[in-house]
Amino acid sequence: MAILAGGLATRLRSLTSAKPKSMVKVLGKQIERYLGDRKQSGINTDYSHEERPLTTAGALKEAEDMLEDPFNNERYDIACKKRGTGEDSMKAIFLDRDGVINNLVYHQERGIIDSPFTVEQLNLLPGVDEAIRKFHEMDYKVVLVSNQPAIAKGYLSEETFEAIRKKMKKELAKGGAFLDGEYYCLHYPEAKVERLKTNCECRKPRPGLLLQAARDMNIDLSQSWMIGDGLTDINAGENAGCRTILLVRMKGEFCHLLDEERIKPDTIATNLNEAAQFILKAGERTRISSLTQQASLR
Ligand SMILES: [Mg+2]
Repeated sequence: MAILAGGLATRLRSLTSAKPKSMVKVLGKQIERYLGDRKQSGINTDYSHEERPLTTAGALKEAEDMLEDPFNNERYDIACKKRGTGEDSMKAIFLDRDGVINNLVYHQERGIIDSPFTVEQLNLLPGVDEAIRKFHEMDYKVVLVSNQPAIAKGYLSEETFEAIRKKMKKELAKGGAFLDGEYYCLHYPEAKVERLKTNCECRKPRPGLLLQAARDMNIDLSQSWMIGDGLTDINAGENAGCRTILLVRMKGEFCHLLDEERIKPDTIATNLNEAAQFILKAGERTRISSLTQQASLR
């Protein structure tokens, strides 16, 4: 017998916060530890872990060698065939972090506006949790893709960076929102920290982070959107083959720059909720035009 323990537990969200359901505790123990205790459960159990998210069919495929008659199941067979043809690829909303999910901070001592350098400095922007919930309702995966060179520049430690990350996720979870993936570029070409000093492929405007996420999560980039508050975000999205939305506080302020740089986002929005509305309407327009096309072919 195969038990597939995975998924994001959307329906259990109020009980599980951002935890996948296979990690939720049963009678005080994670399910693996609970079932793994043969004295208690009386069940002889083997486990197949996904090193990276593979979708439902992909997870079963990984466990194929452990199953006596893996192809004696119609649903499994159909699911694996779909995966092979890419039919079950997902669409994603790629989000920049600073200025999109959380506030930018003025660091008076350095005279710069930059990322939060301490846990206290991280605050979510209003309505971000609501917008992320909307993206999930529209069946998008929500994936963070962020340049974070502050460790490389010597502005903060890895521990503080991790603590800031944890606070962001905790704050999002309070509003019932979560990220399906987080991809960070920690490199910087002029880094003070030697191991992070590199001219990498992942630093936006290069599309490395988006391409890696697409490989890991089976994302169809042509069906996906990149939303950011910087021109490098828009470039990275375009370089990856996504549609793009630029967030600006006042819509007029960026127009001359976009012209100069010849950058053309699909739209400009003042916040993430406005971007979510635009994507919802774009989806409706696509659906209506494909229904009209089908009707005219009949
Ligand atoms: Mg930004």
